[in-house]
Amino acid sequence: MKSQNRCEICGKIGKNVVLSADGFVCPDCEQRIAKVERNLFPQQLLNIFEAERASRSQKSPIMFEPGRASRSQKPPLADIYTVSKPIEIKAFLDKYVIGQDQAKKHLAVAVYNHYKRLRQKSSDIDKDGVEIEKSNIIMVGRTGTGKTLLARTIAKMLHVPFTIVDATVLTEAGYVGEDIESLLTRLLQVAEYDVEKAEKGIVFIDELDKIARKGDNPSITRDVSGEGVQQGLLKLLEGSIVNVPPQGGRKHPDQKMIPVDTKNILFICGGAFDGIERKIGLRLNTKAIGFKEVKENEKIDRDNLLQYIAPQDLRSFGLIPEIIGRLPVLTYLEPLDRQALRRILTEPKNAIIRQYIKLFKLDGIVLKFDEDVYDYVVDKAIEFKLGARGLRAMCEAIMTDIMFEAPSQDKKTISITREYAEKQLNKVNIHKMGE
Ligand code: ADP
Repeated sequence: MKSQNRCEICGKIGKNVVLSADGFVCPDCEQRIAKVERNLFPQQLLNIFEAERASRSQKSPIMFEPGRASRSQKPPLADIYTVSKPIEIKAFLDKYVIGQDQAKKHLAVAVYNHYKRLRQKSSDIDKDGVEIEKSNIIMVGRTGTGKTLLARTIAKMLHVPFTIVDATVLTEAGYVGEDIESLLTRLLQVAEYDVEKAEKGIVFIDELDKIARKGDNPSITRDVSGEGVQQGLLKLLEGSIVNVPPQGGRKHPDQKMIPVDTKNILFICGGAFDGIERKIGLRLNTKAIGFKEVKENEKIDRDNLLQYIAPQDLRSFGLIPEIIGRLPVLTYLEPLDRQALRRILTEPKNAIIRQYIKLFKLDGIVLKFDEDVYDYVVDKAIEFKLGARGLRAMCEAIMTDIMFEAPSQDKKTISITREYAEKQLNKVNIHKMGE
């Protein structure tokens, strides 16, 4: 069945609203745009379109269109306090990330509160004795469900230094990996070595699960592989002054260190925590008292156990309680179902299909996809359990030949049909496209 899309300009819904270089547009608006492009009504009409589009997509305007403003003209640190409200932050995330409402809300609130904390003056604290503490976050979700994408997207709208680091580069100090403090090197670099700025930044630590202690019970298993690293990380999360190697890597005696206070740095952690569902399931079966206890008669959704995640599950997975205590906001990402995968193909602002359409537009070619191509690609992604990352690999396989040939041909329009997509995908080994 052909799905009905909404025109991003006039809001009309219909089967003939298709994805073009200007987003989802109906034939009428497409014509209007064509007129603009033929320079009949250049700038004025574009302004009208832009205004129409904006009034439809945002009921409450975002205070500053984050990414855009930041690149051209980054406001001074003092201006960061005019930050968007949580609802606006989430609306921004919605443009790029499909679903994951729970995680988006937590992120939006945490970032908003982070700015509030930065604004609190010590004189205020003296007055009422209330000091807003930071709420570091941990996001748990299968690989390829959008954890890094969320972090990257939120970074576009921030006016504090932000960096993504990978916990896998660390191993216990003294062994092969990098020193814990090197996690802050990138932040310093992003802040152009302005320590005061870096001290207000946000760090996303990916793959936190890789430093979990292996083995369920600390008293039985003496596997401390990840524990040393966790202890080191704790120092950063708690807030202390750490000596950061300006060039990263391992410390060595003649390298000059930069002291950085981590008290106000917000840490967002992410990890797949493979196998944690089993631990959640076990806990739910034994009806352990939980932070998010499932009521007796509430039916447990066995297909998505992550939604019941509680701090004790992280503990059984191998994180030390002190670390868990320093990550008070625990949120999860949903597995991506068929509908989510289908939306990921076309809806996000920089969706894969939009990118191909744009690439062809730069060569003066109108690229069109039949709607059933999307269904076919999603069917294959599900059949071969490829996840969202597989979508891109499959689209590449479908599009490579045509991207190779089209610039040398003089076609003005190219339509990708399901038959063509099938033919192209049959040429490659789809099994290799997994995550
Ligand atoms: P994770 O960090 O959870 O392993 P990523 O955020 O790196 O996963 O996702 C991999 C890619 O899959 C992203 O770059 C994006 O193209 C796509 N993707 C995954 N989840 C989503 C989502 N919820 N919305 C839009 N795109 C997504």
